[in-house]
Amino acid sequence: MDKSKPSGSGGAVLNPRTTHREFMGFPGSVAVMTITTIVLYIWYFSCNETAGCQLPVTQSQWSAIAAHAADYRSYVSLEALAIYTMWWSWLVVLYFVIPGRTVQGVVLRNGQRLDYPINGLSSFLVTLCTAGLVYGKFGFVPFLWVADHFFQLASASYMFSTAQALFVYLRSFRRPSHGAQPVMLALAGNSGNPVYDFFIGRELNPRIGALDLKYFNELRPGIMGWVVLNVSFAIKQYHTLGYVSNSMWLAVVPQIGYCIDTLLFESKVLTTMDITTDGFGWMLSFGDLTWVPVMYSLQARYLAFHPVHHSTVATALIAVMGVASFLVFRLSNSEKNAFRTNPNGPSVSHLRFIKTESGSKLLVSGWWGLARHINYTGDWMFGLAQCLATGFDTPMTYFFSAYFLVLLLHRNYRDECKCREKYKKDWDRYCEIVPYMFIPYVI
Ligand code: NDP
Repeated sequence: MDKSKPSGSGGAVLNPRTTHREFMGFPGSVAVMTITTIVLYIWYFSCNETAGCQLPVTQSQWSAIAAHAADYRSYVSLEALAIYTMWWSWLVVLYFVIPGRTVQGVVLRNGQRLDYPINGLSSFLVTLCTAGLVYGKFGFVPFLWVADHFFQLASASYMFSTAQALFVYLRSFRRPSHGAQPVMLALAGNSGNPVYDFFIGRELNPRIGALDLKYFNELRPGIMGWVVLNVSFAIKQYHTLGYVSNSMWLAVVPQIGYCIDTLLFESKVLTTMDITTDGFGWMLSFGDLTWVPVMYSLQARYLAFHPVHHSTVATALIAVMGVASFLVFRLSNSEKNAFRTNPNGPSVSHLRFIKTESGSKLLVSGWWGLARHINYTGDWMFGLAQCLATGFDTPMTYFFSAYFLVLLLHRNYRDECKCREKYKKDWDRYCEIVPYMFIPYVI
């Protein structure tokens, strides 16, 4: 195969061959897939009711993990796979039947704009009501089942997300029927290396009929699954102790609020890099369906078998930190969204900005005048508050903060590269006016 030529559908103009590979290309994508999988399993095998929650450092701890991993029947079950598939399918049904407005995405390279239904929050509310009915009929039993079979469900979501990524990768080679638009590939996902393309995502917007797989996966089965897991772990603690500890409230309530906030602002996802730029491959399929619910619910899972009791002062401090950082995250994001939607709108018309040669304006006052990514700072501190809710008995529950720091630094790097390319010398001017990246007067 001539690697200098663009592949299949669409030709050079629409689907140029990828020249710059993200994540260091093939070795980086293999490393990310391997490391995330290992982390997922180690964090379960060494942080659970029987193992406690200690980072494996001794030979015997590693041997115990190896023995547990070898007995795959303890964490792979057809029942969990069936339940997981039902969960995913239930949300697909709601995607189609729940009414909601339709919003158009950004203009694509082929000039097309795709339609997206905005019914994530109402799908969540219908699911919540259904969960209430299930509780009315069966009590806590189904929720305790979810908590007790957590890792079987995690493995099921892993298998499902990997199969889904394989499906969209293979399907991206289809020939469009006569007269149909050619398949549009992601600019970064058309390298010709099957492993890298499978990982990063080859097709930009894979759809089955009106079901946009990337958009659907982004906020529904994983984000709502995270809520289900958190609620199930809180119920598990209540079932075991007879009450819910203050630490559990501190971990679970803000996370559920974060999920609702995400669904409330569902249409905003349409302008994020995930939707506009990245293909739908293993990275997003696994990230959305497995990584987010499994790793992000770690605090609640830990507290379910290791309750922590905070003093009133500590509780208040963690709660204040959570609320304050959430406000920084939400207000800064909303300010930019409002400005991008209508720069003369009443909430942003007083803000100062610079004009750029690209035609876009860049805010230099308000939140975006304090630091160039103050929204990331708020988001990170918010996650840290929930890690602090788990106390200091183990470093393992701080995984989210460490991981999220790396993710946001990498995202910041990608975004700065994108903006430098888009705004050229205007971006340097902006950086002179707003010299701090994350924390005003510090960094
Ligand atoms: P941002 O919301 O930070 O947007 C970056 C873009 O905003 C730039 O590319 C640029 O786009 C525009 N911009 C930059 N500076 C200015 C300015 N001064 N004035 C106006 N526009 C500006 O991007 P993300 O999508 O990365 O993050 C959104 C939120 O999602 C963040 O709060 C982040 O923390 C969160 N997030 C959460 C994750 C999770 O797993 N929980 C994962 C990733 C993100 P342009 O000029 O082209 O419009």
